[in-house]
Amino acid sequence: MTHSFASLGLSAPLQQALDEQGYREPTPIQSKAIPMILTGRDMMAAAQTGTGKTAGFTLPLLQRLSDMKASKSGAPRALILVPTRELADQVGKSVEAYGRHLPFKSAIIIGGVDVEPQLQQLQQGVDIVIATPGRLKDLLNQKKLSLQQLRMLVLDEADRMLDLGFIQEIRSIISLLPQKRQSLMFSATFSPDIVALTEELMRHPVRVEVAPRNSAAKTVKQTVYAVDVQDKPDILSYIIQGGKWSRALVFVRTKKRADQLVEQLAEEQLSAVAIHSNKSQIYRTRALDALKKGKVRILVATDVAARGLDIEQLPLVVNYDLPKVAQDYVHRIGRTGRAGESGRAISLMSPEERKLVGAIGELLGRKLAPEPLPFFEDGVLDTATFETPVKKTLKVRKQTTSQKKGGGSNPAKQPRKGQGSNHRSARNSNKAGTAKTDSKNKRPAAAKKVGGFGAKPRVRRQSS
Ligand code: AMP
Repeated sequence: MTHSFASLGLSAPLQQALDEQGYREPTPIQSKAIPMILTGRDMMAAAQTGTGKTAGFTLPLLQRLSDMKASKSGAPRALILVPTRELADQVGKSVEAYGRHLPFKSAIIIGGVDVEPQLQQLQQGVDIVIATPGRLKDLLNQKKLSLQQLRMLVLDEADRMLDLGFIQEIRSIISLLPQKRQSLMFSATFSPDIVALTEELMRHPVRVEVAPRNSAAKTVKQTVYAVDVQDKPDILSYIIQGGKWSRALVFVRTKKRADQLVEQLAEEQLSAVAIHSNKSQIYRTRALDALKKGKVRILVATDVAARGLDIEQLPLVVNYDLPKVAQDYVHRIGRTGRAGESGRAISLMSPEERKLVGAIGELLGRKLAPEPLPFFEDGVLDTATFETPVKKTLKVRKQTTSQKKGGGSNPAKQPRKGQGSNHRSARNSNKAGTAKTDSKNKRPAAAKKVGGFGAKPRVRRQSS
C-alpha cells in the first residue's frame, strides 16, 4: 500500500519541507517507522543504508519535539549518535533540511575539528545534538553539556558503532540519560552484541524490518572477479575507463593502500582522492564534495572513513580489497543503489581473499561465484555494452566476434596468437580462475602507454 506523508501523521511544516526536497512518497522504512515512532514507543529497526532511514527517524523526531515543551536551560532534548563524522554531517544536513520550517537548533559534535565553535553552539542552547560517541563523551566528562533534559535518543548504524569499538562510550553516555525517554536504534545487521545492547537500552521495543536481515541491497548487481593482487590497479583502471563510470567509490583495506592507489590511478589519468582516518576532517569533507560535484572521478576510502556516505547517483562501488568483516560488505555496497536506483558492486578477489568472499556469501545466504573478467580478450574494448550484466554482454560479444570471423567459428575455441591450440579460452576457463598481467610487465603495457579514457589495455588472462 502506498502512503502519503500526510497519512503517516506528519505535520504541515514537515510536509512542506519534504515537498521542497522533492520527496513524493515515503519509502517502506518511513511508512513503517514514522507512525510507530510518533506513538512514543522504543523501536529497533533493521534498515540498510539507502532505504531512507535517516528521514525515517528524523521526521518523527522533529514532530515529537514540536509537541513537547522546549527545555528552559537550552539543554538538548534529542541526541542522535552516529559512528562517523561524515555520517554526523549528513544527518545534520537532513535535520536542517527537514526541520527548515521548524524553530529548532541543532549542533554537530564530532572529533577531528576545533571544539570551540561546538562549545559556543552548546552554550547558546540547542534542541538536537548529532554526535560521534568519542567527542560527546569528552564534553560530557568536562561537564560542557548536560543530557538531563533528553527525551529522545537515536543510535544510527549501531552495528558500525560497535564494530568501531564505541561500546564503552555508548554505555557511559547512556548512563547519563534520564530513564524516561524514547530510544530508537537503527542497524543494518543484528549481531548478538546489538541484540544485547537493545536489551540494555530499550523498553519493549517494537521491531521494524524492511529488508531481509543481513542481505545486501537488492537493487545492487554484485559481481566478483578473480584477479591477481598485483593486477588490481590495472584492472580497476580498466573497469572504470572501459565501463565509462562517471564516478566510483573504491574500498581498500589500509590507509597506505588508499594513498598508493590514488597515485597509481593518477598515472592512468584517472582523478582520484583518498579518505581515511589520517586525513583531516576538512580534507575528507572536500574530497567527498569533489566526488559529488564531479571534480574527481574516484573516491578511494577505507571502511572507517566511508561509513554512512551518501552520494547521490553513485553508480559503482568497487571492493578493491575485500573487507575482513563480511558485514562491512553489506555497508559498502549499500553506498550504491540508494533510494531505489540501480547500482553496481564489483569486487576484485585475489586468491588470498577467496575465503572472505565465501564468508560474505554465507552472510548473504547466496554464493558469490567469481565471473570471468569482461572484455580482456585480445585487448578489445567494447564499451557499448559494458554496463549491461556481464553474462549478457559476453553473449553479445561472442556473437559479434564470431560474425567478424565470418560466422560459424566459435571465438572461444580459437587459439590466440602465440598460444598452443589446446589453450583453454580465458573466457571459458577463468570462471574460478585469476586474471593476470603479462609476467614480464608488472602493469599491462597498453593501459600504461595510452592511459586516460578509451585506453585499450591488454591484460592477458590465463587460467590458474
Ligand atoms: P538514507 O538511507 O537515509 O541515507 O537515505 C538515502 C537517500 O534517499 C538520501 O539521499 C535521501 O535524501 C533519499 N530519500 C529519503 N527519503 C526519500 C523519499 N521519501 N523519497 C525520495 N528520496 C528519499
